[in-house]
Amino acid sequence: MNSFGPHPIERLPVWIQRQYFSVKSTRITELTACFRTEKPIATVQAASAQDVDTAVQAASKALKHPSWKLLSGTDRGKLMSKLADLIEKRKELLASIDAWDNGKPYKVALSEDIPETFNTIRYYAGWCDKVSGQTINTTPEKFAYTSRQPIGVVAQIIPWNYPLSMAAWKLGPALACGNTVVLKAAEQTPLSILVLGQLVKEAGFPPGVLNFVNGFGQEAGSALVQHPLVDKVAFTGSTATAKHIMTMAAKSLKNITLETGGKSPMVVFNDADLEQAVKWSHLGIMSNQGQICTATSRILVQNEIYNSFLSKFKEAVSTVSKIGDQWDESTYQGPQVSKAQYDRILSYVQIGQDEGAKLLMGGQPWRIDGKGYFITPTVFTEVADSMRIYREEVFGPFVTISSFKTEEEALSRANDSTYGLGAALFTENLSKAHRMAAEIESGMVWVNSSQDCDFRVPFGGVKQSGIGRELGEAGLEAYSQIKAVHINMGNKL
Ligand code: ADP
Repeated sequence: MNSFGPHPIERLPVWIQRQYFSVKSTRITELTACFRTEKPIATVQAASAQDVDTAVQAASKALKHPSWKLLSGTDRGKLMSKLADLIEKRKELLASIDAWDNGKPYKVALSEDIPETFNTIRYYAGWCDKVSGQTINTTPEKFAYTSRQPIGVVAQIIPWNYPLSMAAWKLGPALACGNTVVLKAAEQTPLSILVLGQLVKEAGFPPGVLNFVNGFGQEAGSALVQHPLVDKVAFTGSTATAKHIMTMAAKSLKNITLETGGKSPMVVFNDADLEQAVKWSHLGIMSNQGQICTATSRILVQNEIYNSFLSKFKEAVSTVSKIGDQWDESTYQGPQVSKAQYDRILSYVQIGQDEGAKLLMGGQPWRIDGKGYFITPTVFTEVADSMRIYREEVFGPFVTISSFKTEEEALSRANDSTYGLGAALFTENLSKAHRMAAEIESGMVWVNSSQDCDFRVPFGGVKQSGIGRELGEAGLEAYSQIKAVHINMGNKL
């Protein structure tokens, strides 16, 4: 029974269906499918290198145009606030599209993704008139000051797991600092970005300031990264693609921000509040179909509570992780985003078994009326730290649970990873929490929670999880550059 009324396609206003869902291209098209029904829902034009060039030229022109260049911070903030209001006003439509296109439960898109999107834009709207430099005391003969200037034309390449909020994380600080943008959505989820483009127009941004292209990474993405008029590349996606992008961007020494993969640990100590630890550990890996770069996918539990944690975790998976249609209000877990992703997760189930780990539960395909790329939540135990399922990012509802004896062991095993994005700790001991938080090799640490991000707090990784920070005030640094001015006050040669 569908709790949200009519069938999803009928839920979308006719103008959206007409305008976007039947876009026909005589050239290459990309197909976007509904991963619940396995049927295509739309064909969308994929940008060619030439289309990317048109967008970059527009962004470059807009950067120097007085309608943007001379706009005061206050007025830039007004435009951004208007955009945030429009996103909030169309929240049901945008959530429907992402539920349809990405497979995430509609109620999650509506209550989490869309508020994250408009709140982030609104937060950075508030920064527009606060981005400023410093005066620096030197000698009586010199007056020195700095100003913060935009970097220029920014290429932003985003993934499919949170289509709109990933866009907001990048657009917000870029616009607040006065840059112009060409953003490429992921080929798996191009639809909600098209509507966002409509809202940008409605908000009244000068033409060329924000440009959206859809398309494939190899063609549109790489044309964007290599374009000579692009001054900065901001990317979120896999570590392998990030390395490739960094190499391409190096040719003209473009500024970069990279947010990549992870294999984040969740360390649960004997003194933890066990009920809370189980709930957060479950959310930390099973929410959003496990498709989260910061997912706490390696759970390490201290030996005294290991068995009780395991039985409670199994119970949480059985009671909370209800798989189903993304339109059903009781659904916790929808289909994976694509067949490729579904196949990849199942291949890791096989790898884990071949490596000799114990498949405690899940790891099975699951269907509605014989359709849909659903996978039952997967838990492996008896996992050696050398196994691929312990070391490699799976990006699905897939977790390994191991036990440890001492704090030192927990720390060294948590840090035994090429990644360093997030980490979570559960303990009631404040000193231990601070000791661990200081020593864990990750960009973010949650104490007594997991995935508890906030747009006001910096986000990013160390090691092979990325370069630079997004969100919060730190996000502004990634989109502005400091100019230093030295004024000679009379120091004659
Ligand atoms: P995933 O494996 O999760 O799909 P990717 O890193 O492949 O992650 O994709 C993330 C984003 O990067 C997408 O928007 C994709 O189109 C883009 N992308 C993929 N390959 C390239 C590339 N060679 N150059 C630029 N962008 C790319």
